[in-house]
Amino acid sequence: TYAVELEGLTKVYQAAGTATEKRALSSVDLKIPRGSIFGLLGPNGAGKSTLINILAGLVNKTSGSAKIWGHDIKEEMRPARMSIGVVPQELNFDPFFTPLELLELQAGLYGVPKSERRSEEILEVMGLSDKAKTYTRSLSGGMKRRLMVAKAMVHSPPILVLDEPTAGVDIELRQQLWAYVRELNKRGTTILLTTHYLEEAEELCDEIAIINHGQVIACDTTQALLARI
Ligand code: ADP
Ligand code: ADP
Repeated sequence: TYAVELEGLTKVYQAAGTATEKRALSSVDLKIPRGSIFGLLGPNGAGKSTLINILAGLVNKTSGSAKIWGHDIKEEMRPARMSIGVVPQELNFDPFFTPLELLELQAGLYGVPKSERRSEEILEVMGLSDKAKTYTRSLSGGMKRRLMVAKAMVHSPPILVLDEPTAGVDIELRQQLWAYVRELNKRGTTILLTTHYLEEAEELCDEIAIINHGQVIACDTTQALLARI
């Protein structure tokens, strides 16, 4: 089985109070292998966030099916949700909590028993050990992004999803974030990320799906795909 398996996944948004429809995903088929770093590459408006938001349970699909680590997102909502950690684009933590407090809070939300929590270890992997007890408001931009990743990992999901992880970030910070993503993958986490930077997909991903106007127009190993461009 696959880390993520999509069949005919379709999303049509209904604009509020009007008859206007927007087809954001159109019958998407996708198989993401376990253990891979998989990139969803496409321009703004292609449907990348919609796809990720469906996996995260934030947007309802219109039709088709999606499985996360073998669990159908509709039939087995809870195990599906427990199998992924999602890092949204925007920072969303309270500036007057410390990283350690935020991770413990998140672990509580996910029902991770105290004996199975490993907040310190996650902070260590993400290079945040010496900031564990500092207010997050005083962290650098790079540290805040790493904390978002740490927060998504508290329930030890086998899949980590990152939505445009380096949008608006300078090249130095981008490369630093790539190194952390690689490290998590090396430790066994399957990575799914969206990007509109070809360079990012090329640098980081084993496989790439190119999405445009809600359709997958190419999907292959990075090497094979680049050979065709
Ligand atoms: P649905 O009910 O189809 O699942 P949502 O609840 O996600 O759709 O829709 C949220 C609202 O955001 C919609 O009423 C829609 O009108 C509005 N919206 C319209 N265009 C956009 C857009 N490009 N990005 C975000 N929200 C939009
Ligand atoms: P991407 O992440 O690749 O930029 P999105 O998934 O955000 O693409 O958007 C895909 C398409 O769906 C776009 O045309 C966008 O305007 C539209 N869209 C996104 N969210 C909504 C919404 N809530 N309501 C209506 N249209 C939306």
